[in-house]
Amino acid sequence: MGALTLVEPNLHLVDVDARRMLFHVPSSSLFELDGLSRELLELFSEQPQVTAGMIRQRFDGRFAPDELMETLEEFKSLEIVRDSGGVARYNPKPKPVKNFPLTTVVLNVNTGCNLSCTYCYKEDLTTPSAGNKMAYETAVQSVEMLLKESPNQPRYNVVFFGGEPLTHMPVIRQVVAYCEQRFAELDAQVDFTMTTNATMLNEELVDWFNAHRFGLTVSMDGPKTMHDKNRITVGGQGTYDVVRQKVRMLLSRYNARPVGCRVTLTRGITDVETIFDHLYHELGFSEVGFGPVTSGDIADYNLTADEMVEVFAGMKRLGRQYLAAALENRNLGYGNMHQLMTDIHEGNKKQLPCGAGVGLLAVDTEGGLNLCHRFTGSEQPLFGDVSSGIDKPALAEFVETRLDRSNTGCETCRIRNICSGGCYHESYAKYGDATVPSYHYCDLLRDWVDFGVEVYSRIMVENPAFFDTYVSPRRSA
Ligand code: SF4
Ligand code: SF4
Repeated sequence: MGALTLVEPNLHLVDVDARRMLFHVPSSSLFELDGLSRELLELFSEQPQVTAGMIRQRFDGRFAPDELMETLEEFKSLEIVRDSGGVARYNPKPKPVKNFPLTTVVLNVNTGCNLSCTYCYKEDLTTPSAGNKMAYETAVQSVEMLLKESPNQPRYNVVFFGGEPLTHMPVIRQVVAYCEQRFAELDAQVDFTMTTNATMLNEELVDWFNAHRFGLTVSMDGPKTMHDKNRITVGGQGTYDVVRQKVRMLLSRYNARPVGCRVTLTRGITDVETIFDHLYHELGFSEVGFGPVTSGDIADYNLTADEMVEVFAGMKRLGRQYLAAALENRNLGYGNMHQLMTDIHEGNKKQLPCGAGVGLLAVDTEGGLNLCHRFTGSEQPLFGDVSSGIDKPALAEFVETRLDRSNTGCETCRIRNICSGGCYHESYAKYGDATVPSYHYCDLLRDWVDFGVEVYSRIMVENPAFFDTYVSPRRSA
């Protein structure tokens, strides 16, 4: 055996009580180390190069040579140790991107919104009456583009977005009727989803969404004082009272699918636990997820560095509640934590942060193709349009740039296959360039993922059935 060296960026060790866990970065998988693996890794972390002599000196008489060789071979195959003369590999070499397996199209049905939330990132936002509305023909062209780019898929998703999508219900009803017939002819399933501010909901609409099994998410920011700070009408009035009343009606009437809530955390709004208590326990949403704003155009609304620390501390405290519930085989509907558990459980090794530009494209009211809903109406150049199709060379160039981690801070980051450089829109908002990773709170993110590894390990050891009940089904859902 020649000298061997540890490949530090490919592993991360986390202690959970007396157990030592190895988080294998290339595959986002977790292993519990036995005594030999533990000691071997200790030796590798002490010495820049480990030789056969050093191993003999440390282990002779305590472990059989076969056992040692087997463990070393395993380390080599996991690429957590390598021959000292060789070159360390952290990321697969990016391949040219030729296919865009599109299965989701987001329709930005109206740039108008009846609210005027202080922190809204939409560059083209206006009032509903002044909004650009998507024509039915454009929506149909979008669906046909989806089918042309990605034929013969068993399942497709059509997402309605705005502005406020409820301000353009006539086209949504038409599109749903069109899709239900079109996809049934193809023997494919179509799934409809929508994020709404809920203010325009009524019983008839809720029943209609129920009949078409919409996946609904409501934007709501917590109890009245917090919600009304930012989520206001065009005239400046808080909207909590009306949203609460509509949400109560929605949750008592809607039974097709669980209804989630999306919370935007901005400056001064950091109390994750209080917000969660209100939205989950008092109002009864099935799942609540938090989106911290750190790089919006309006700097006054971005969370400060200290607030981000506070937010992550709160997210971890809530994570402990999630853990306690999981050990009793209950799923506390805490979206961020559940997503992290799912990523670790499925060994997700994400080369890209999300499906934007690959599995998903967003269509603006004029038919232009955008990376995702956040980019519609922005200065980011389009990637084609619904009549001429995807501008594949331009989109491939964008995706390949993000796939190539060489010479970026992400290249050796231990959470590179979970974070993958972060949201394109955050980078766009922060640096004016969606191809640059968004580095602004990496340490907090790494700490969050370490915490997730600890929570995952505890659930795995004490109640592995939790994953069969609440995580695996999600994958096939
Ligand atoms: S953006 Fe930061 S946390 Fe994310 S992968 Fe890159 S270096 Fe790591
Ligand atoms: S780019 Fe950002 S906002 Fe858009 S889908 Fe990806 S994570 Fe979400």
